Amino acid sequence: VAVVWTWSSVDYLLSCESIRKLTLKMDISNFQDFCDSVNENPEATKFKRKAKDLCQNLLDSGKLEEVINNLDSLKCNENAEQSLFKYFYNLDNVKRYLSHPVTKATKSEATSVQYREDGNKYYQQKDLEKALHNYKFSIVYASHPPHTCTVFDDNVIDDSNRSDPRLFKGLIKQKTNACAAVYYVEEGSTAYNNLAISYANRSAVLMELGQYTKSISDINRAFELQYPNDMCYKILIRKAKCLIALKKCKCAQDVLHQCYNLMEKLQLPEPKYTTIMNSLNTLKQKCHLDYTKHSATHHQIQESQSSTTSAPRNIDDNLIFAYSSPEPPKIPDCNPRIPSLSSAVQMEYTHKQGRFMAAARDIKPGEVIGVEMGFVTCVSVEDAASQHTFCCTCLNRCSSPLPCPTCAMVVFCSETCRDIGLHEFHEDECEILPAISSLGFVSNCPLLALRVLNSIPYWKLKRVVPLLQQLAISQPRSMHGFNEDYDYDSRNYQTVFHL
Ligand SMILES: [Zn+2]
Ligand SMILES: [Zn+2]
Ligand SMILES: [Zn+2]
Repeated sequence: VAVVWTWSSVDYLLSCESIRKLTLKMDISNFQDFCDSVNENPEATKFKRKAKDLCQNLLDSGKLEEVINNLDSLKCNENAEQSLFKYFYNLDNVKRYLSHPVTKATKSEATSVQYREDGNKYYQQKDLEKALHNYKFSIVYASHPPHTCTVFDDNVIDDSNRSDPRLFKGLIKQKTNACAAVYYVEEGSTAYNNLAISYANRSAVLMELGQYTKSISDINRAFELQYPNDMCYKILIRKAKCLIALKKCKCAQDVLHQCYNLMEKLQLPEPKYTTIMNSLNTLKQKCHLDYTKHSATHHQIQESQSSTTSAPRNIDDNLIFAYSSPEPPKIPDCNPRIPSLSSAVQMEYTHKQGRFMAAARDIKPGEVIGVEMGFVTCVSVEDAASQHTFCCTCLNRCSSPLPCPTCAMVVFCSETCRDIGLHEFHEDECEILPAISSLGFVSNCPLLALRVLNSIPYWKLKRVVPLLQQLAISQPRSMHGFNEDYDYDSRNYQTVFHL
């Protein structure tokens, strides 16, 4: 955060010759006039306020002249940007000014328990949507087994020839391997009971909402987290019910078998024991019946499906899961030079307008003319509700998400997305995300900038940025972002650099 902010401050202060003249005169009131004359946008306003405070601070401490003089000499250095950054960062006035009051979004067992109790209350009132919402937050705040990364990226510095034009090929953002993190909880451990119970409770809501697969996932998570053994029959029965609803009778039978075994060991008091055994027997019968039905003719299978399909409780409950995230469309005929666009459009360039797209032929209404993955993407950091609704890896809406194991700020739709997301960016962002969102930027630019930097190894950037800066001058502007084969590969950092 300090990097993003200080860098922009240095850049900003240096780019404004008039500021330097004004501040040299130590006349801070003129600075206000200058600020008012700069284009208005919310971020510029915030920034100007900060810049003004900083100047005032330097003036009050009698350091302004010294700083201005130092800036002048540092600006002539060979590594001007780095030395300026170092100078600013180590300047006490600036450092103090940059330290931001940050509220950390940390886990809290007490908060988790409170959310679960509220969830239980709503569940009893049959308000399933509110119950689901509260159980989600109970899971988000509960302590998790620590995340330990077991995969390391191949970040070895490549000493190949600096001037090799093929170097740019190495700037293509690779799909990283998932973290393959292991979350092992010792058998019988009670450390994550709170989390296990919250998952188990949420599985009950999901089952009632007809979300059987999601319910089974939550039950499996509860098991892995060592859900208390003496209550395991509850979630085993629930799992069997879900499997029967999904017509997986063979699997349901196995789960019931597991439950019978458990019941033998538990020695529950009467009449509890008989009640549970009765419901197990009923399920076993149902299972057997369905199994024989399904082995019958095709016609009968269809009949049984329509008769057992559970009706949605009500339309609102069903709507929670109504959002689907379809695959992006495919482009029928790609533009040979810009594969993310269709051949219906082509890039053109004029000195006055810069680069722009133009139609190469008539385009029909609704025709897909471009499909492109973002080089980096993020869920809005400004809006906490979004952070807890959309998977921060694939951006899909998720109604029964998993949180980051360390913080309480972001969620993932699945174990797969969690492992990819942690490894690709969130391991590095986890601690600083609260600071980024408290900066009060209107856009997501700081986070996106951070992700761009994070997606390319530093040694590679350091080597390649000077080359790209040269190209920016020597290459015709219509060629910016194209590689040496005249292709525009939007996964390549080159294209982002030239934006
Ligand atoms: Zn996802
Ligand atoms: Zn990792
Ligand atoms: Zn985190």
